[in-house]
Amino acid sequence: MHAPSLSDQTFDAYTDVTGRDRLERLRSLADTLADSRILHVNSTATGGGVAELLRSIVPVCNDLGIDTDWLVMDADDEFFEVTKAMHNALQGSGPPLTEDMKATYRTVNEQNARELADHGEEYDLAVIHDPQPLGMLDQLEEMMPETVIVWRCHIDLTDPTAEYLAFVSEYTAQVDHGIFSRSDYIGETAVPGTSIIYPSIDPVAEKNRSLEAETIATMCDRLDPLSFEDPLVTQISRFDPWKDQFGTLEAYRRASEDVADLQLALVGGMAGDDPEGLELYEQVAKEAATDPNVHVLTDLSDIGVNVLQRESDVVVQKSLREGFGLVVSEALWKRTPVVGSDVGGIPLQIVDEETGYLVAPDDATGAGERVVDLLENDERRARFGENAREHVQEHFLLPRQLVELLDVLADELE
Ligand code: UDP
Repeated sequence: MHAPSLSDQTFDAYTDVTGRDRLERLRSLADTLADSRILHVNSTATGGGVAELLRSIVPVCNDLGIDTDWLVMDADDEFFEVTKAMHNALQGSGPPLTEDMKATYRTVNEQNARELADHGEEYDLAVIHDPQPLGMLDQLEEMMPETVIVWRCHIDLTDPTAEYLAFVSEYTAQVDHGIFSRSDYIGETAVPGTSIIYPSIDPVAEKNRSLEAETIATMCDRLDPLSFEDPLVTQISRFDPWKDQFGTLEAYRRASEDVADLQLALVGGMAGDDPEGLELYEQVAKEAATDPNVHVLTDLSDIGVNVLQRESDVVVQKSLREGFGLVVSEALWKRTPVVGSDVGGIPLQIVDEETGYLVAPDDATGAGERVVDLLENDERRARFGENAREHVQEHFLLPRQLVELLDVLADELE
């Protein structure tokens, strides 16, 4: 296990974007939890929404006076291949679960649990994020019998492959409480008690904060050969089959029939726990190479992502499955309307015909047509953008999620 380096983010940074009631509630929860030691465990320090979330909430909790640590599992590609298969199978389809895969999963989790014991800290409550670290539970129960265990499940368990669900349920049944991102994601999962908390974005993080015109202009220059004079559609996602970059390409091609000089930016990263990513990236890059207006960009800085979400005319999120899809709120917060699939957390964020458009996940042509609709109508795009900002301000900013999370943790520690 290792502890990622953290920023010195303070709670004060959020006062401008948080209503008074919420601020007071947060301070009161912080008082309640002031004597508790809390641990978050996940499987990667970079890439993906979970790392993104922890990077913000862990320093803020500490600044609020809640003693909070974040530890990331140490694991190799073999483990991540198993957990990626598990992730895919729990969200719908994956390869058969073999005894070897189970053994790899257990061995790496046992090693990490031992490292946690050697770390020598005692915690009142541990939040285990997603299925990867669940295998530590047997040891944790032995090593820290007094510690309350909360499982924060960020994925969609509506339609899991049965053998994988049975495997993880041995662990989930042992936790004290489960937190899911939507009530229907719980499915048949065995968890003693559950809460629903929608994820959120961090409005003061580099990726989402407002930027000076000069910073934007400099970054736009760096993003050459993208032109910000011509229409630009962007999707930002890990290279993962569920994110359907090929569907986005199809939608772009449909939109290009009507919109001259349209460009598509496919921005992606490879999460540290996702060995499949490189292969998919290569396939997408090969296809993109046939069209000079399609740009595949990797390793963008947070400011780069911020500028692209801000300066694109339309953002697309053509996922086939989606736990939540923070990228949608990130774009909406910057007043950029989003055309997204009607799956997972996307319809919570896109109010159809108000903040963007929802399309069926298999309807790339429909997505392309919605993109055209927005690109051809400046007034509508601006109106959707204003609605989008308000919708995210109300529902999907970090202080709201933090209040709900701390509420659950305080309840569990009572
Ligand atoms: N992200 C990024 N660069 C990339 C791709 C993704 O910074 O090239 C970020 C993105 O801005 C978002 C997170 O990674 O904050 C992805 O979270 P989301 O919930 O959309 O999807 P997940 O990867 O968790 O399935």
